[in-house]
Amino acid sequence: MSALLRLSDVVHSYGDDRVLSGVDLTVGRGDFVGVVGPSGSGKTTLLKILLGTIRPIGGVVDRAPDVRIGYVPQLETVDWNFPVTVAECVLMARRGRGLPWPTRAERRDVARVLDRLGIGHLAHRHIRALSGGQQQRMFLARALLGEPDLLLMDEPTTGVDFTSRHEVLHLLGDLNADGTTILLTTHDLNGVAAHLPKLVALNGTVIAAGSPVEVISGPVLERTFGAPMEVLQHLGLPVVLDPGPHLAVARGHRAG
Ligand code: ADP
Repeated sequence: MSALLRLSDVVHSYGDDRVLSGVDLTVGRGDFVGVVGPSGSGKTTLLKILLGTIRPIGGVVDRAPDVRIGYVPQLETVDWNFPVTVAECVLMARRGRGLPWPTRAERRDVARVLDRLGIGHLAHRHIRALSGGQQQRMFLARALLGEPDLLLMDEPTTGVDFTSRHEVLHLLGDLNADGTTILLTTHDLNGVAAHLPKLVALNGTVIAAGSPVEVISGPVLERTFGAPMEVLQHLGLPVVLDPGPHLAVARGHRAG
């Protein structure tokens, strides 16, 4: 199969609560895709299905053989009081955990990946003492240590300030240019989604997929977020006017 991952007619429920239905999605090699949708629209569930930690109750998930997937969780889900340094936290993600202590080569790999992400100087700092942007880079380092073909990131710019958000996006653009396929979720339409080459609008099912101009449009956003939203074009990019109030919760646009 030429795609890295393909979902066909995927369905998932938690108990009686149908979260996803009829989801068709293909992640091709080299893609850089953003999944947009309101809170509760099934974005994290979709990521976990792609990752393989959730098995959907219906449909088919095809993965290319031997595809290596790195996962970067939402910062909010992390216990920052866990008493480890940045280097230790990254080392904990190493492959082949045969030995309890790291080899010299593994330490070198960790130093290299931290340097690549510009946080080599923070290696011995406690993870609690990092800024949002630095925390995001540390989790990216953990994911990159396994040399993934596909990077799945849940809301990578939430809790990250404006400057760091640009840096994180820039970094992801460089990784993608070097051949890493990236799929991320975001609720930030103007700051993140509009800058990605490909978008998927999700609310229980795929509402639309395509370029930012195709997906960030009044009709698609209204179906996705359940409220009318005004979109302007500025320097070739779509800009959503005051999207804030509509982004709070999914409003029952579930299929099925
Ligand atoms: P998003 O990432 O778009 O906010 P999620 O995939 O996290 O959406 O959640 C979709 C829906 O599924 C929400 O209504 C959420 O409350 C529910 N949900 C998510 N995880 C679980 C779970 N483990 N058990 C029960 N319900 C869940």
